[in-house]
Formats: sequence, structure tokens, C-alpha cells
Amino acid sequence: MNESKICYEDRRENWIDSLRSRGYRLTEPRQVVIDVLAYSSRALNAAEIYDSARKKYSSLGLVSVYRTLEKLEELELIQKVHHPDGCQSYIAGFTGHQHLLLCNECGLTAFFEGDDLVPLIDNVSSDSGFDIQDHWLQFFGLCSNCKSV
Ligand SMILES: [Zn+2]
Ligand SMILES: [Zn+2]
Repeated sequence: MNESKICYEDRRENWIDSLRSRGYRLTEPRQVVIDVLAYSSRALNAAEIYDSARKKYSSLGLVSVYRTLEKLEELELIQKVHHPDGCQSYIAGFTGHQHLLLCNECGLTAFFEGDDLVPLIDNVSSDSGFDIQDHWLQFFGLCSNCKSV
């Protein structure tokens, strides 16, 4: 899918610029967390981020991981991924109106654009009387690699 088009280095630079321009101090713990997520094509949870970031910076604290995630999310540089079991993980944010595909086995993510929800939204809206303003759609399943195992 879109994965091969992503330039991880650009993404990282972009995040660092956004954070700097908002006066956010890029300490080493924050940088290692940013590196892990910016270079990941999988959704990672806080514990996974913590584990890989600690390989680069052994005195990293879990609190720094959470704070950095909070900041990146606030700036919409990353976004939360919800899992069927109620867990949450994070992936680099995407631009425009796109929807997320998530592999339940390996955590690979991909995006797709376009959906045909308008007739559904219209129906629900007229049945319920709600003025529907937004929706959130995520697909779960097995990626082509995991499917063939
Ligand atoms: Zn997979
Ligand atoms: Zn949509």
C-alpha cells in the first residue's frame, strides 16, 4: 500500500521541526522516542516503544515515553490506534481523510482513502435525527504476509 512511499527520514525531520517551532525541548529521551515511532510502519504500544527506545538510551523512563506520546498526539503527528481487545497503540499520523488497516498478527498498518459511507450516514441520520459530523473507521485483519503463513 502506501508504505513504500513513506520517507521515514523526512517524517522524522518534520516532527522535529514541528516540535522545535513550538518551543518544545528535544532532550535525548524525547528524541529516542521520536526515532522509534517515526521509523515504524507498525502501530506500537507504549511498552514496545519503551523497549526499543531503551536500546538507544538505557536510562529512559516510561514517563518520558508517555509525555512524548502526548505531545506528538496533541500536534497530530501521531495517532492512536484502537485494538479490538481495548488496547491502544500509536502510529505516525496521516494526512487528509484516510482510514487505517491494521494487521492483528504483526501490527503492520496501511491506509486507504475513500469510503462509501454517505448513504449509510444519510440513513442513520434521518432515522436517529442526529446531525452526523464525523466518523472513524478502522479495519482489522491479516496482512498479505501473515495471511499466507
Ligand atoms: Zn501481518
Ligand atoms: Zn471516511
